[in-house]
Amino acid sequence: MAVTGRRYGARVPAAPVPATPATGRVAPPARPARPSRPSRPSRPSCRELVAALVLPARCPGCGVPAEPACRDCLAAVPRAPAAPPPPGIDDWIAPFAYRGVVREVITRAKYRDRHAALPWLARAMAGAWWAADLPAPDAVTWVPAAPARRRARGVDHARRLATGVAGALGVPAVALLVRRDPQTQTGRGLDDRRRGPDVVLRAGLARRAVPGRVLLVDDVATTGATLRVCAGVLRGAGVASVVACTAARTPGRG
Ligand SMILES: [Zn+2]
Repeated sequence: MAVTGRRYGARVPAAPVPATPATGRVAPPARPARPSRPSRPSRPSCRELVAALVLPARCPGCGVPAEPACRDCLAAVPRAPAAPPPPGIDDWIAPFAYRGVVREVITRAKYRDRHAALPWLARAMAGAWWAADLPAPDAVTWVPAAPARRRARGVDHARRLATGVAGALGVPAVALLVRRDPQTQTGRGLDDRRRGPDVVLRAGLARRAVPGRVLLVDDVATTGATLRVCAGVLRGAGVASVVACTAARTPGRG
């Protein structure tokens, strides 16, 4: 893909960035960085504080005290395997394979209120985006969580990841999509999962407010059905380019 877009924000060096870009491209030489847009740090919720008190953070790889994992285990995290983007997605960026330490880190964040991993994942995702050398998006949006799941967890993880990625890239995070089905992809049958969730454009969104280039964020993608459905909705609303960025992926997995 031709590189024509403008770049915003500063390169984020703190998170482990894949040595080989997840999309298979050769990483571009270092570009002059602009100061990133300052993002407001999120305060830990009561649930997060309780979780930290009840269950002290330990590395899921080796058990030493660390959050989200120790330096050695993070350095050994497997990178995302190459995978073609789902239909409607121009490129699919993912820094990590969904297994081992990263799988446990994401599971803890989603189901055990270990949200401290989310900024780390977001930095890794932003780093993978920089390495992929793609045109800058006009906005970052996210795969919306099912309402029941969002209420149960008390947080929308994909939204937090998207906010972190958007802050690193210096572009706005915008809620463009709404989930209508109450059920999550997790636990559904294979046929249901391949059909994807019931997602629509956010009500009241003016046509002129629809960005031309969107970076679509989610935590994990397996079949790619959710990304495909979201991309279809965005393109139907007039979005010209949709690039997906997930923290991890498991291509080919049912
Ligand atoms: Zn470790």
